[in-house]
Amino acid sequence: MPVEPPIETPRSLVDAYAVLAGSTADAQITPIAGGTDVMVRITGEIGEPPERMVDLSRLEELRGISVDGGAVVLGARTTYTDIRRSDVCREHLPALVEAAATIGAAQIQNRGTLGGNVANASPAGDTLPVLLALDAEIVVGGSRGERVVPVAEFWVAYRRTALAPDELILRIRIPVPGGREARFRKIGTRRAQAISKVVLALAWRERGHGADKVWRDVRLGLGSVADRPIRAPATEAVLEGAGPTPETADAAAEALAAEIHPIDDVRSTADYRRAVAARALHRMVRDAGGW
Ligand SMILES: Cc1cc2nc3c(=O)[nH]c(=O)nc-3n(C[C@H](O)[C@H](O)[C@H](O)COP(=O)(O)OP(=O)(O)OC[C@H]3O[C@@H](n4cnc5c(N)ncnc54)[C@H](O)[C@@H]3O)c2cc1C
Repeated sequence: MPVEPPIETPRSLVDAYAVLAGSTADAQITPIAGGTDVMVRITGEIGEPPERMVDLSRLEELRGISVDGGAVVLGARTTYTDIRRSDVCREHLPALVEAAATIGAAQIQNRGTLGGNVANASPAGDTLPVLLALDAEIVVGGSRGERVVPVAEFWVAYRRTALAPDELILRIRIPVPGGREARFRKIGTRRAQAISKVVLALAWRERGHGADKVWRDVRLGLGSVADRPIRAPATEAVLEGAGPTPETADAAAEALAAEIHPIDDVRSTADYRRAVAARALHRMVRDAGGW
């Protein structure tokens, strides 16, 4: 029988930081929020089990969804159910709401948190391409203070993040500029309880009208096509300044197929991932163009 690791449950951020001060790269103290990823590891059958844990469930500082200075701010302990039920998210972040609705089933959505998805750093984490497409900022903190990490710099290698061992994710800040559109698409084996084979999020701002319509500030986030969630800058460049026409869709799909280098694994093949990512992007441009 696996031995349950010791766990501490601080009641304030200051107390949590004091516990985490004992965490080093060699002897990590593992934060646990909803536990939907950590509990899978606890038996030690999949990777190293945590040795010590710090439970974040009493930290009210990590909860809440608000609008502040042109951004939506989501506490790290915001659950998928919170996101789905939030009027603020439904109004300003429909692509994130859509992503939240595809995660696990109701039980996972009730417990799983946005901060946990970000910290877990799975290449297949479904909210992560959305955060990339929306230029999110990850606010992290520890006993040395707070700092802001642009989301594009947060995942540094396979399942590695920019977090120091004694830091926590406090909140996720997502700017909500006027006129931005965003779309989300997840491709899995089935509609629920499926880990993504490919997941995409596309954001842009539209300028002009009719035949003169062009896209600016294009961001394309992808999951399950690399060792971490990525942007696709060469494909973004094809879409930037272009209109959502059939020619643009063809060129963007071709650029994406050339830009990504997915792998074969138990869930899919590299060829399928490349082809379906390109088709999903083509469809997004087509739907946006209304043709
Ligand atoms: C049946 C099942 C289905 C699932 N389906 C999906 C799916 O469809 N899509 C998907 O993306 N994921 C899925 N997941 C994975 C999981 O539910 C999500 O990644 C979830 O968001 C994790 O959040 P959590 O609060 O449960 O994290 P936890 O398990 O508590 O923690 C996950 C990791 O993040 C760290 N962590 C948590 N919070 C913080 C913080 N504030 N600061 C620093 N580190 C922190 C922990 O130490 C740990 O390393 C599924 C899991 C299960 C068991």
